[in-house]
This record gives sequence, structure tokens and C-alpha cells, in this order.
Amino acid sequence: MSQVKSEVDTRPSAQSEGLFERAKRVLPSGYTRDLAAVKPFPRYADHGEGCWITDVDGNRIIDFVNNFASQIHGHAHPAVADVIAKQAYRITSTIMPSDWEVKLAELLRERIPSVEQVRFMNSGTEANIVATKVARCFTGKTKIAKMEGGYHGQYDLLEGSYQPTPDKWGPVETPTTVANNPGTPQSLLDELVLLPLNNLGATRDILRARANEIAAVFIDPFRLQLGLVQPDPAFLEMLREETERLGILLIFDEVLSLRISRSGTQGKRGIVPDLTTMGKIIGGGLPVGGLGGREDIMSTLGVEASPKVKHSGTFTGNPMSMAAGYTSMSLLDEAAFAGLDARGEQLREGFRKIQADLGIPGQVLGEASFSVFLPWGEPIRNYRDLFQAMRGGLGEGILAIQSKLLARGVLTLRGGFIGSTPMTADHIDFTLAAMKDALSEIHSS
Ligand code: PMP
Repeated sequence: MSQVKSEVDTRPSAQSEGLFERAKRVLPSGYTRDLAAVKPFPRYADHGEGCWITDVDGNRIIDFVNNFASQIHGHAHPAVADVIAKQAYRITSTIMPSDWEVKLAELLRERIPSVEQVRFMNSGTEANIVATKVARCFTGKTKIAKMEGGYHGQYDLLEGSYQPTPDKWGPVETPTTVANNPGTPQSLLDELVLLPLNNLGATRDILRARANEIAAVFIDPFRLQLGLVQPDPAFLEMLREETERLGILLIFDEVLSLRISRSGTQGKRGIVPDLTTMGKIIGGGLPVGGLGGREDIMSTLGVEASPKVKHSGTFTGNPMSMAAGYTSMSLLDEAAFAGLDARGEQLREGFRKIQADLGIPGQVLGEASFSVFLPWGEPIRNYRDLFQAMRGGLGEGILAIQSKLLARGVLTLRGGFIGSTPMTADHIDFTLAAMKDALSEIHSS
């Protein structure tokens, strides 16, 4: 622990501040993605090594965001960096396929229960767009169902009701579809059906009543809204049974949750969807998306299929992402997952102990390499509970912890702590000490 502590060196942030001043002139609000925003200005990254990032001012920060859960080996893993460098000298992109895409597809087929065939894309968003087209083509139906509050990337259809507000969200058991952005056409929103997460009866009723319109149900089987709400296993089982019976495809969005085990969340829960969308860790730190599933459904993407879903893309399957992805995924053997699980458990146990020692309300959620600490005592079962909690003080509480942790050299996002393979027990002890200090300060003020 003392060794870890000596690696943290907090200095002033003049370089970051200066860059942000320039950024504000050329990027809206100074940013190129909303979730990077931090007050008063962000720290600009210079380089990373293992679970550490060094910013342009020389501050070292332990990284529990891992670029939204994609960097499962942290930064600059030698094997991944090496294959990227070598591939850059061989070929970066071309219309000709490379051996890497075959190897990565074979690896995914071998590990992920629902995956018989795969198509690659450049982001999780794109994977969900293509999944929507495939589901419509295969079933001949147009409507898509998702959980109220569910996130599936930036496709305007699937963005519906990601963050609805009480004035618009409608009845709890039959939620109204709310646009995520101004100007979204009502005709598009009419194609989206909202399901109330963890409400078995109401969800079953909607699916049964609208079975002849709904092509597919999308769900992230692990969590809603960055880990804050988890689907009950019984809810997932019900979805599997009902969709199968009603001729609706079940699509697991495992863009994030594939990191939960070697066979994804589906393998761990023992529930096999029809299609799986992937991203993040399968690209080894480079942009990627993937759609996998049953061969009869995936065959709608076949070159001579009829009816057929057209799919191409300039950088689709580029050998850089495929090489980094294959190398990174190959490193994730059972031992690597056992290590991630153990560090996650150490962190969650530590959080529970701190909470008990300080006698503060809170709950510790998560599983495997994904942990969440919420300074909130009430149970959160669905998006609406979460919304009320956020408005009632949880949002502020999370941000206070995030900023106090950053000041102590720990980078987190909205209560979430996303682990990586280079993290050791010492790194977790260091993080727990920072957490105890941060929470003590918040509760003494
Ligand atoms: N689905 C889920 C569950 C996600 O967590 C994300 C990204 N956070 C996406 C889809 C979108 O992926 P991308 O950012 O690569 O488009």
C-alpha cells in the first residue's frame, strides 16, 4: 500500500486548464463527448500504464473508468500495444479481410453461448442499429421493445426513454416513450415499446398484447444506467420464456456486460438470447462493435440472403481493431477473470466495512469487475426509483464522492468502479483508504 501511495503525486493542473481554454473555442462547451465533462475543467490525459493514467501536468491517477469499461487490461498492455504497433506497420485498413477477424469471431463463438456467427462494426451503437435491422428482417415485424431507462448507445430509436422525466413518463406499468433529444419524430417513437424493468407481470402483459408487432426486446442483462439497477434473474428468465413463446427475438446488449465472465453475463446467468451485441472489450482498446447470434438469424446478413439486411462500413473489421481485440480477449483466460472477480469482491467488501464503520447509509452493488457504491439507503428497483433517488440527493452524493476521490488520485464515474487486470490487492487497499478518507470528509462537513 505504501508503495502505491508514493506513486500518486498531485500537482497543479495548469496544462489541463490551458488546454480547456483552447478547447472551448473549437469544441461545443470544450468537449467532444458529454460524459467527459467535469467541473471546473477536465484533466487531459498524457499516457497510461497498467491501471494508472498520467495527465499532462504529471498527476498520476488510478483508473476505475477504463474508458467506459473497455480497457479491461488497463493501459498499454505490452502484448496489446505490441500487436497494434506491428499491425500499424503491416496494414491498417483495406477492403480485403484479414485473418484477425476470423480468429476473433472463432474466439467469440467458442466462448459466448448465443454466438454461432458474428458481424463486426465500429461501435456498440452500430451493433445495436444492425441488430434492429436484422430483427426486423427476420421476424417481418417493426417495433422494438426495451426497458425504460435502458441505454443502448446513440441510435435515436433506442435512445427513447433513456432519461425520461415524471411529467412525460406516463403510467408505471405501461410507460410512455419519451424522446431523448428535441425534434425526434413521433413516428419514430411510436416504433419503440417501453417495458418496466423487474415488473414481471406488467412486462409479460405488454409482450403478450403486442406480440404481433414487436420484432425484438433489447436488454442489458447486467445493469441499467451504469450499473445502478440490476435486472432480477427471474425477470430475465421470464423474458426468455415469453419471447420464445411469442416469436419475439431476445437481444442481450452485452456491449458492457461481456466483461462479467469468460462467457459474458449470459453464460454466468445461464440464459441464452437469440442475438448478442458486443463492443468495448472485444476491441482491445480500439473502436469496435459486434453482433453475434443464431446462424439462421445471422444469415439475413449473408451476401446472397433473401430477404437481406445490407451491411458494410469503411472501417468495419479493420485489422487494427481485430488484432488488438483478439490479442486482448485471448489474454482473458479463466485465471484473468478469477483475478478480476477477487479484486472486485475485495473492493465491495471494503466498501461495506467502511459504510458500517462510519455508520452512514449506503448500498454496495455490482459483481465481478464492476462495483458500485451508492450513498443511498433505499432500494432502487427500476429507472423511476433511480430518478427519484438522484433528485433526492443521490446525484449530488455521487458527484461529491467522485470529486473527493479524484483529488486523492482515484478516477471513477457516477459511483461505478470498473476494474482492470493489472489491479492488485494493493491498488484496492489504496482505493479503499481514499474512499474512507473521502466519505469521512463528506460526513464531517
Ligand atoms: N450498449 C451499452 C449497454 C453500453 O454500455 C454502451 C456504451 N456505454 C453502448 C451500447 C454503446 O456503445 P458505443 O459507445 O461503443 O457506441
